[in-house]
Amino acid sequence: MTAPSSVPVSVVTGGAGFLGSHLSDRLLAEGHRVIAIDNLITGNTDNIAHLASNPKFQFIRHDVTQFIDLPGVVDNVFHFASPASPIDYLQLPIQTLKVGSLGTHNALGLAKAKGARFLLASTSECYGDPLEHPQSESYWGNVNPIGPRGVYDEAKRFAEAMTMAYHRYHKIDTHIVRIFNTYGPRMRLKDGRVVPAFVGQALRGEPLTVFGEGQQTRSFCYCSDLIDGIYRLSRCDFHEPVNIGNPTEFTILDFAKLIIKLTGSKSTIIHEPLPVDDPKQRRPNIARAKELLGWEPKVDLETGLHQAIEYFRDKV
Ligand code: UDP
Repeated sequence: MTAPSSVPVSVVTGGAGFLGSHLSDRLLAEGHRVIAIDNLITGNTDNIAHLASNPKFQFIRHDVTQFIDLPGVVDNVFHFASPASPIDYLQLPIQTLKVGSLGTHNALGLAKAKGARFLLASTSECYGDPLEHPQSESYWGNVNPIGPRGVYDEAKRFAEAMTMAYHRYHKIDTHIVRIFNTYGPRMRLKDGRVVPAFVGQALRGEPLTVFGEGQQTRSFCYCSDLIDGIYRLSRCDFHEPVNIGNPTEFTILDFAKLIIKLTGSKSTIIHEPLPVDDPKQRRPNIARAKELLGWEPKVDLETGLHQAIEYFRDKV
């Protein structure tokens, strides 16, 4: 293990993505030097344009499923690269599988070579269509490996297994965060996820497309809360997965009504078919994060949605 440098050096794979760019901002604010790596298939340099002149920030366009060759000291590797919306997995199934498997292997290899700490961005999708509610980290999940979402779910489950193997066998200081639905500025308006989809439709005055009856539930966390939980996790001495998310649960139908109210839109609601294997319910049990990290979400849904709506207003 190399001694930590006085200015910590952090690599963020997926650094031009929604969460990777917010994490880069937070690490820079904490005094780190940040090397963001992204192949830009779902990331966008607009998300990091404000960092271009920051001497502590470096962007490298690279596909992390290929060997990651970086000179110099690295203290932390945050592995955030992956397509992350159901539409992306349908359009990019092989890339999704490769970045979760080969990309995780390369990112762990980089951490091992540099004696760096490692944090994996995992997901509530590891629980699949959960039979336990709310979901605790001890729940093993209910995943269909061959369904359309399987490419993401199984890649992330493999990534968790690989991370624990590097921890146990190579003694790497690893962390795993299971990220629940998160929203905020820098999400792609057209990534298909429910927050940008509904807000975009409401701002354009189009009907909101509720899939199925809209009785499926989700719990939405604002991005700054999520990043704070992840930053705390990266500094603690705990290696098993930790859920980070907001436990306030909504049906998707109620969520659509809330978006119409908050945008002041005259949009109506229409129903479209429920996608295959769409989880019926999802809410994190965050007891572990509370106890271990002293963390819980602070931004209430209306406040967070106002921020997100203002961001999307400029993009529609
Ligand atoms: N959803 C919807 N209409 C949309 C987009 C999504 O009703 O236009 C639903 C989707 O079926 C799911 C929930 O909203 O039940 C959250 O979907 P999202 O794609 O944001 O992520 P997921 O939590 O399914 O990974």
